[in-house]
Amino acid sequence: MSKSLQAIRGMNDILPAQTPAWRYLEGTLAKLLGGYGYQEIRLPILEFTELFARGIGEGTDVVDKEMYTFLDRNEESLTLRPEGTAGCVRAVLEHGLSGGGQVQKLWYAGPMFRYEKPQKGRYRQFHQIGVEAFNLSGPDVDAELIVLTWRLWKKLGLADSVSLQLNSLGSSEARANYREALVAYLQERFEQLDEDSQRRLTTNPLRILDSKNAQTQALLVDAPMLAEYLDEESKSHFEGVKARLDAAGIAYQINHKLVRGLDYYNRTVFEWVTDKLGAQGTVCAGGRYDGLVGQLGGKPTPGVGFAMGVERLVLLLETLELLPSELEQSADLYLCAFGEAAEVAGLSLAERLRDALPGLRLLVNSGGGSFKSQFKKADKSGARFALILGEDELAARVVGCKPLRDDAQQQNIAWDALAEHLAACLQA
Ligand code: ATP
Ligand code: MG
Repeated sequence: MSKSLQAIRGMNDILPAQTPAWRYLEGTLAKLLGGYGYQEIRLPILEFTELFARGIGEGTDVVDKEMYTFLDRNEESLTLRPEGTAGCVRAVLEHGLSGGGQVQKLWYAGPMFRYEKPQKGRYRQFHQIGVEAFNLSGPDVDAELIVLTWRLWKKLGLADSVSLQLNSLGSSEARANYREALVAYLQERFEQLDEDSQRRLTTNPLRILDSKNAQTQALLVDAPMLAEYLDEESKSHFEGVKARLDAAGIAYQINHKLVRGLDYYNRTVFEWVTDKLGAQGTVCAGGRYDGLVGQLGGKPTPGVGFAMGVERLVLLLETLELLPSELEQSADLYLCAFGEAAEVAGLSLAERLRDALPGLRLLVNSGGGSFKSQFKKADKSGARFALILGEDELAARVVGCKPLRDDAQQQNIAWDALAEHLAACLQA
């Protein structure tokens, strides 16, 4: 026998038992974002590799180690998107959406791809819902993004399970100065750094700050601090963000070591983290990226955004048992038909019922079967009533209407009166 086929490691099927939770999360967020005036944009999953090399930056883990990159049949280097911001900026530029200082508030959802070590909360195909705002440079929009995520946590019942970490990276100049100071400090202690951090010292030194290595962390205690290098404008921008969060009653923790994995951030960066998921605790992360549009060939355009990890949020909702019980809606009705003629009449009767009762959840028995087997399926469907159509009912142009959840009597209802009868029964 040939070897059975399997999905690629780290790429998950989302099975019918799980899709209601996904729809619930995605639907809740889509509605909430609409309420803040954010519009959906749909973007390709494949982009030219250069977009990510330029946008995310060489020397980042994502670009150096995690991208799915290949040559297509035309020998062009393409990459499965590892994140959504670069593609969103590309689309905004390509269609002139940010020209003339136009404000854009956008969101998108979909799969992202990174070649990582699969584990709980970390996959190779995962899903993000991302939000981006363009041409707004003030702290008000940074705060708005955080406020709207806070509203989402409250809606989902997660407010007590997540906390906000906040930092400012300053201007790119301030960051460059800090980078120099940090590199000088760590260079003197090079031998004591873990291997990853030694490599990062030349490729992406700020990333050393969130190294998981204990010895490296000990070395960092006396290292220069990013906060000491902030320029005045960034400082007042940061104060503006904090003042708005304070006024909105949103608690946060300043985390001087929060630098984010992608190169393009400046000023505000934030993460929502939970301690309920083990090591993969960041459920939403974002920040300001005023330099990115320019870096990708556009006019300087301020930008700010975030992305949330859908798998981690679904996992969190499941772990905390916060999924509403009515997510898996059972059927209202199950139509049993016995014999070819009854099946034919049953199908068109079912369609008439769907016309008359929008939103009706009606399962029509498929594949025939005895009385016993059809009733078993009707019962299993969770339907409140079985509709029975056999030879006798067909001849009399009635349907047997049998309550499945209580001891009430079965009634025969004329076809013409059926919709009205069922509407009343189902309301009760
Ligand atoms: P991490 O530090 O966990 O690797 P990151 O900084 O690489 O995260 P971002 O690029 O900021 O993550 O992506 C935003 C969010 O997307 C993360 O906070 C997380 O919730 C989710 N995410 C990122 N990578 C993965 C992955 N491989 N599997 C599942 N979710 C992910
Ligand atoms: Mg990562």
